[in-house]
Amino acid sequence: MSAIADKVMRVIRPEILALNAYHVPDATGLVKLDAMENPYAWPESLKRQWLERLHDVAINRYPDPVSRTLRDRLRGSLGLPAQFELLLGNGSDELIQLILMGVSRVEACVMAPVPTFVMYEMIAKFLGLAFVGVPLADDFALDLSAMQTAIRVHRPAVVFLAYPNNPTGNLFDASAMDAILRAAPGLVVVDEAYNAFALRSFMDQLGHYDNLLVLRTLSKQGLAGLRLGVLAGDPAWLSEFDKLRLPYNINALTQASAEFALAHAQILDAQTAQIRTDREWLYHQLERLPGVRVWPSAANFLLFRTDRPADEVFAELRRRGVLIKNLASAGGVLDECLRVTIGTPHENALFLEVLAQALGFF
Ligand code: PMP
Repeated sequence: MSAIADKVMRVIRPEILALNAYHVPDATGLVKLDAMENPYAWPESLKRQWLERLHDVAINRYPDPVSRTLRDRLRGSLGLPAQFELLLGNGSDELIQLILMGVSRVEACVMAPVPTFVMYEMIAKFLGLAFVGVPLADDFALDLSAMQTAIRVHRPAVVFLAYPNNPTGNLFDASAMDAILRAAPGLVVVDEAYNAFALRSFMDQLGHYDNLLVLRTLSKQGLAGLRLGVLAGDPAWLSEFDKLRLPYNINALTQASAEFALAHAQILDAQTAQIRTDREWLYHQLERLPGVRVWPSAANFLLFRTDRPADEVFAELRRRGVLIKNLASAGGVLDECLRVTIGTPHENALFLEVLAQALGFF
């Protein structure tokens, strides 16, 4: 072994050595339907107004450390009751990290139904926390009795419930979530990353549970490049996580751009409404393709399986210029599954065409 490899092995924690880095595939030249982004740009006139606004941002100065104006705008747009607070993160990923840093101690564990968003488990591992995944039922519903048993046995410091869930796209049963909120000895984070496409929320339930936090992001709504996540909840919790936030985590360009975007929210709302309509169109088209099984979705993506191996379908689509997500390696209920993000009507039609070709229909 080389001297440096030997030192790396001695210095880096074994659980980090064992991890694979979060892989973002190169999408150059491809129709990008792999990452749940909003496919629409802003109209030129709006872009010009935005650039004028950015012209006045003092990038020689540190940004507002508490993003006061942006937080006020967000409070208004979320309709957050006065007794609750917001904590902003560099994407909701950072907020997941702050929460887990706050609870990290040897005996603490993190729980989520699986399959779900992979960062809950990855960040738990980064921090040396045990992660307990409780398998979903075959129809992707919460297995409530398995969750209740796991909660009793493992006493998780945090339970994550993605609502709707990624990558399955479904909304869990609200009464099962209520039972988990009541059974959990620690925090329950309801991750509403796809709220714009589901229009169902636990935000109005904050007052009913002292262990509920609601996580949102502007990424899926059309601002993925800004990296802005929002955690809503009781200040008793948020003030602790705020201590772990690095100073100035929301940069000046993000603050100004998100304020601007929220002042023109009707544009993003119209885009997400279009995506919801197109999701239904694509769902019905996929449902009609022989040899394809597609699941209903309350998010901006669809999970599907074909009677050809997922690795082959994925590679064939990429060869024909369309990048989607291959979930085949996840196994379990996701065995041979693929996930496609809803794009523009043109992109969706193109995806369908190349999928039909990959499946040998023409
Ligand atoms: N939560 C869920 C359920 C997600 O699917 C994602 C993104 N894939 C995130 C959080 C992270 O989003 P971001 O960091 O862009 O806010």
